[in-house]
Amino acid sequence: MRQAGRHFLQIPGPSAVPDRILKAIGQQTIDHRGPDFAEVGLKALGGMKTIFKTEQHVFIFPSSGTGAWEAALVNTTSPGDRVLMFETGHFATLWNKMARKIGVAPEFLEGDWRGGAEPDRIEARLRADTSHEIKAVCVVHNETSTGSVSPIVEVRKAIDAAGHPALLMVDSISGLASIDFRFDDWGVDVCVSGSQKGLMLPPGLSFNAVSDKALEHAKSVSMPRSYWDWQDMVGPNASGYFPYTPGTNLLYGLNEAIDMLHEEGLDNVFARHARHGAATRAAVRAWGLEVLCARQGQESGVLTAVLMPEGHSADGFRATTLKHYDISLGNGLSKVADKVFRIGHLGDFNDLMLMATLSGVEMGLAKAGVPHQSGGAQAAMEYLKDTTDERVAAE
Ligand SMILES: *Cc1c(COP(=O)(O)O)cnc(C)c1O
Repeated sequence: MRQAGRHFLQIPGPSAVPDRILKAIGQQTIDHRGPDFAEVGLKALGGMKTIFKTEQHVFIFPSSGTGAWEAALVNTTSPGDRVLMFETGHFATLWNKMARKIGVAPEFLEGDWRGGAEPDRIEARLRADTSHEIKAVCVVHNETSTGSVSPIVEVRKAIDAAGHPALLMVDSISGLASIDFRFDDWGVDVCVSGSQKGLMLPPGLSFNAVSDKALEHAKSVSMPRSYWDWQDMVGPNASGYFPYTPGTNLLYGLNEAIDMLHEEGLDNVFARHARHGAATRAAVRAWGLEVLCARQGQESGVLTAVLMPEGHSADGFRATTLKHYDISLGNGLSKVADKVFRIGHLGDFNDLMLMATLSGVEMGLAKAGVPHQSGGAQAAMEYLKDTTDERVAAE
């Protein structure tokens, strides 16, 4: 049956694609080796440097984020190399599994899925690695399965304090363009990202930001690689081209997204996400439910994962809200399957869209018979009314 009005896609990626970006994508595909393409390619590559905040290197792949994870690993390791990873949640676990599959030897620091990576434990492990066998430290910036943010600056400090030469590799697939990220200032060596979260695009583009150090290191490692080889990108990218067919139409969309982010101003984008995260947590508290992220200050502005009361199915609740209110909420992944639901508040999103989302959640809780107190949406509204969204002049 037809559902009137617009569907609410409140999963934490893919996020809803704004009309401006859909229009940009809808232009004719052009010859990616022809003279007109250079402008598209140069704008995308240069523009992404302003989003990563780097003057070093950015590579763009026609793939989902998972491809850029693989690119990060195969360009920086030789078979059997050790890397140190931190179990922030489902996505950190998948990256760890991938590393094992391709022949890297990852060590996985165990986590409880309720906060970000722990710099002190990373430092302790690196100090014990006196022969410098660990080639890279891999951390998820915004863990999309839990709604926790890792302290990347502190992880960098931990590596430096241990006097360890390991590369710092960060998955900011869902953090980039939603929460603060500064590739050069924070001393990151490889950052992995994707198109369908903060960048507001459909899925299909992925990114590696790469430091001079990592690009140099890549020349000396022997992991077999072809499609993902950074070195093959360097030459063609210099003039705005790619070694194989790029995602031409998604690049049109990316260039529109970069313009939109700068028109609003990245600091305003980050403040907007942080404020929506805080309003959502106010709603969850008023419902008498629990936010999965248990470390104060590490709660994500991208999404909020909410624990279901014992004995109630998160997936049953999500099915009810979809059926009655045409809103898609994120599911719990692996360890927390059916135990949490995730409210995405990322991308092209504003106060009224958040209020509609939280109203849908609250009505769904009632409809599904989940024990809670009413008034969560009201609490979020009070928060939004009381906090001025002070905007700085756009860039
Ligand atoms: C979405 C996401 C991924 C996976 O990206 P795909 O585009 O689904 O391949 C990996 N890590 C994080 C943190 C994500 O949010």
